[in-house]
Amino acid sequence: MSADGTPVLAVRDVTKTYPGGVHALRHVSLEVAAGELLAVVGPSGSGKSTLLQLMGTLDKPTSGQVLMRGHDVARLPDRQLAAIRARWIGFVFQQFFLTAHLSAVGNVATGLLYHAVPPRERRRRAEVALRRVGLGHRLDHLPHQLSGGEKQRVAIARALIGDPPLVLADEPTGNLDSVSGAGVLELLHELNRGDTAIVVITHDREVAESLPRRLEIRDGRIHHDSAARTVGVPA
Ligand code: ADP
Ligand code: MG
Repeated sequence: MSADGTPVLAVRDVTKTYPGGVHALRHVSLEVAAGELLAVVGPSGSGKSTLLQLMGTLDKPTSGQVLMRGHDVARLPDRQLAAIRARWIGFVFQQFFLTAHLSAVGNVATGLLYHAVPPRERRRRAEVALRRVGLGHRLDHLPHQLSGGEKQRVAIARALIGDPPLVLADEPTGNLDSVSGAGVLELLHELNRGDTAIVVITHDREVAESLPRRLEIRDGRIHHDSAARTVGVPA
């Protein structure tokens, strides 16, 4: 929770039905508090990426609400929503999505494009962020000169450089060998020390088990949330 107790993110009774009638999410509710580190785990096709798209305001639910720090995203004008997405949410994807012609520093600096920071200062902060993820020796490398694990570290530095309250990572270890994957997870743990909440979407049970809270999704429903309090059982 933030100081006033408002969760960073609240998903309330959200349903998502794609054209053609696929019920990707059914009555999903969850809250993410400031600084939480949690896994959303479930088999392929269970609705994880759909949930990430909705949590990231990249798509809208068919019914129900998504609230970012208490703001109902469906009620925000497009411009304000774009600003919230750019400043409050960092994204990390399985495929990295780095810009091929930009160096590691250049890629990380794009994470500050909406922060009214002058270019030189963006570059300086990008260097600091890259050192933080262990890539101080790769500042001017282009994406094709980096290993998969290094690319994902660049993407993580880009997601975190603006110090957003929420980072959403969709299968961040999905394209990595087990050693690089473990390194990326360790890094996410380290970076979670501050106030940034990190949601890791994964189909990998082992990855999920390494995180403090696990939310299991099956057939578009929350099957289990390890943070859910038991209701109605006397102490
Ligand atoms: P996961 O990430 O857990 O593998 P997804 O959220 O990608 O699951 O998909 C959930 C369900 O929604 C699947 O049945 C998938 O085929 C379907 N789906 C996902 N995206 C779309 C789309 N854009 N249009 C139609 N169906 C989709
Ligand atoms: Mg997916």
